[in-house]
Amino acid sequence: MKWNSPGNELETEYLKISDKYENKKIYIYGAGIVGGRVFDSVSSLTDWEVAGFFDKDSSKKSYKGIPVYHRSQMSEILKNYPDSMILLGLLDSLGKKIKDEIAKECGISSQRCVLYEEFIRYEFPVIMLCKYEKVFLDTVTMIVTERCTLRCKKCSIMLPYFKSIKEFPFEKLKKEADAFFHMVDFVGNYTLTGGEPLLNKELPQIVEYIGQNYRDKVGSFQFITNGMLSPNEELLLLIKKYDIAIQVSDYTKAVPSIKDKVLENIKKYREHGINVDFLCNAEWVDFGFESVEHDMSEEQLIAFFDYCRTRCRGYVDGKIRYCINAYFAAKALEKEEDDNNFFDIINLEQNMEQKRMLVEFDLGYNKDGYLSMCKHCNGTCEINKHFIEVGEQWENH
Ligand code: SF4
Ligand code: SF4
Repeated sequence: MKWNSPGNELETEYLKISDKYENKKIYIYGAGIVGGRVFDSVSSLTDWEVAGFFDKDSSKKSYKGIPVYHRSQMSEILKNYPDSMILLGLLDSLGKKIKDEIAKECGISSQRCVLYEEFIRYEFPVIMLCKYEKVFLDTVTMIVTERCTLRCKKCSIMLPYFKSIKEFPFEKLKKEADAFFHMVDFVGNYTLTGGEPLLNKELPQIVEYIGQNYRDKVGSFQFITNGMLSPNEELLLLIKKYDIAIQVSDYTKAVPSIKDKVLENIKKYREHGINVDFLCNAEWVDFGFESVEHDMSEEQLIAFFDYCRTRCRGYVDGKIRYCINAYFAAKALEKEEDDNNFFDIINLEQNMEQKRMLVEFDLGYNKDGYLSMCKHCNGTCEINKHFIEVGEQWENH
């Protein structure tokens, strides 16, 4: 979207939803990770009454300190509270189906049931800003190294193509974390990654610093790793202490020689009671930055950017990049950085106007309404059908 009036774009939108959740009982459907993320965000920033979760698993009785009601009780409960709202704590791929089922089963208007993406990526940040003057961001990834133990031909950040590698020492990352959390009241998902994050030898210090100072401003705190490096005891204890989830991307089909090590490391995390996801079913797409040349008008580029709605915010050098893939691709291809793609947190004065602009930027506003790299891109994973082999390596890896 094109920024017509930076700092004032959201008021009209807010008026349409201003009383949607006020003074209403809120229920969350799905007592799992996504539902928990919704709960953490709402309970950290608002005084809304979250009255309970609904779930189809009858063994769940309580979650996050509030009751979990079985799905079969839903109709009765909603009948007693005709003003209540249901937030879907499920990814939209499943949530859309459940939303229709709930409306039918309980005989309620589907408007009382709100999809996760619509809520967490749009309505909640707008309400938080316009009513509570708080900055809520859905998801941000902090880059802690540009080094990696693999050399994937189609690395989504084109890391093997970099001509120079930047260092990310603890003191620099500490200052950037301070600037970020000074500006942001709550982030649903804060990820540390690279490259391979365990290659940053100061990772334990970074984790300790963010955990100790800002853990209460983060919903899910996580690492994304390729699993090849063993975490030492110090790091394992910190991961456990600050409830960090580990996402291990699976490269073992493309690089079978790493399989034993990766499985051994996953076991190590689990033995320490750490929550690990082994992402075996991930699909990769080719962004196409080095070869695509769209012949699109200005209007078409704006529409393409709005349709893409990438979630891949990256935090590097004190600037939030709207599309981290576009940022790194520009670096790899030695193109000039696009000022539509970043919001400078560390060098700007931190005041309410900047906070309003940050939320607008995160919702997809910028000067041109698109990024220069959109002209050379097939789009983010959700809209891109150019599937490729996961983790294919340059020879002599
Ligand atoms: S593991 Fe592959 S895709 Fe991930 S950062 Fe390293 S080179 Fe890139
Ligand atoms: S179209 Fe490509 S470059 Fe543009 S925002 Fe989406 S992923 Fe980034």
